[in-house]
Amino acid sequence: MHQKQISDIQPGDTSTPLNVRVIRKWRPHSKNNEMCYLFVDIHGDAIEAIIDSNEENYFHNIITVHSCYTITKYLCIPSRTYMAVVPHTTSLKIGKRATFEELLHSDIPTYYFNFTSYNALKSHMNIHKLLTGTLQLESTSATTISINPPIPDINVFANKFKHLKTPTFHSQEKSVTIEELLKITIEERKHTQFTCLATITNIFNYRTWYYALCSECTKKVYPEEHNLVCEDHGTIIEPKYMYCVNAAVADETSSTNMVFFNEAMTSILNISCADMVIIHGHTDPKIIPTPLLSLRGIPMNLHITLKKDGTISVHKANQTIGNAKTSTSLEMDAPSTTMTLTKSKKQVQHQKGAFIQKPSKKKIKR
Ligand SMILES: [Zn+2]
Repeated sequence: MHQKQISDIQPGDTSTPLNVRVIRKWRPHSKNNEMCYLFVDIHGDAIEAIIDSNEENYFHNIITVHSCYTITKYLCIPSRTYMAVVPHTTSLKIGKRATFEELLHSDIPTYYFNFTSYNALKSHMNIHKLLTGTLQLESTSATTISINPPIPDINVFANKFKHLKTPTFHSQEKSVTIEELLKITIEERKHTQFTCLATITNIFNYRTWYYALCSECTKKVYPEEHNLVCEDHGTIIEPKYMYCVNAAVADETSSTNMVFFNEAMTSILNISCADMVIIHGHTDPKIIPTPLLSLRGIPMNLHITLKKDGTISVHKANQTIGNAKTSTSLEMDAPSTTMTLTKSKKQVQHQKGAFIQKPSKKKIKR
C-alpha cells in the first residue's frame, strides 16, 4: 500500500496509511480539552497529532511514546497558529476510528529537532512583550530537554578522527622532581596530577606484583584449591590479571616508593599482565619476573597521582632516552623520544620458548 510522507500532508487529505514514531506527548496550555503527540516519519519530518483529552485513557492504552505505528483513518486539519511546535500547515486529528498497528524494528528517527539561530528568535515571538530589549526563553507545556542525544554528524566526526590518540592534558599536569613531590601539601594533592622524570631502582617482592579480578564483577579473586574464586561468583576461569608493582624510584634529587598500576606497567613493558602470567608463565605473584627487573635504571616519564593515604601511584608511564639535567627539559623531549623497551622484549621472547604455555586456570601461590 502507498505510504504517505508527513511533508506531503495537506489539510483535508484522505488518510492513506502513515508510518510514524511517537516522539512525545504533552497537554497544551491554551486548550484544556486537547492532548498532543508529536509524530515523526522516516524522512525526519514531524507533525502534531491531537486527541480529545477525554479520550486520554483510551489512547494511553493504544499509543506508547517512542513506539512506531502504521496509522490509518486520521483526519488532516489546519494547524493551530498559536504555539505550534512544528512548522507544518497540517495537524492530525485522531479519534476512536483511527487504527494504530505497531511497527517493530523501524528505522524511524527517535528524536526530532527544528533548530533555529539566535538571530531568528525575534521572528518566532507571538506576543511582543519585549520591554528590556533582551530576549528571554520561557518553557511551555510542550518544552522538552534532550540531554546528550545521539547526533549522527557527531558520529561521523568521531569516526573521522578516531585514529587520533586520546588527547593528553599536559597543561593540567605539573612537572616535578621527587624532592618537590615529597613536599607537596595535602591541599595540592587533591587538584593536580604530576609528572616526574625518574628511574626505578628496585622492585619489592614483599607485596605481590599482580592481582586477579573476577571477570563478572570487580572484586579480587582468591586461590582455593587449584582455582581462583570470587566471593560472589565462585570459580572464575578467566580472571582479569592486573599489575600492581611496588618499586623504589629515584631521580638526582631524592628517592621514594611508588606503586605502578596496570596501565603504567602494560605500556612500559608492552606486555599485558595476563600474557605475563599465562603465556610467559610468571604465575608466582611474589617472584618478580625478569622483564620487570630489567626496568631498573631506565629513565621514565611517570604520570603520578598522590593518594590521601600517602601512596604515590603511577597510572601512566613511558620510557625516555637521554639524561637531561632538569626534569622540565626532559618533559618537553619526552613525546618525541618515547621508545619501546627492546631489551625486556627480547628476554620475554626468550622465556616464551622456555615455558610451556599453560591453561589460564592458575593457582596463585601464597
Ligand atoms: Zn565476582
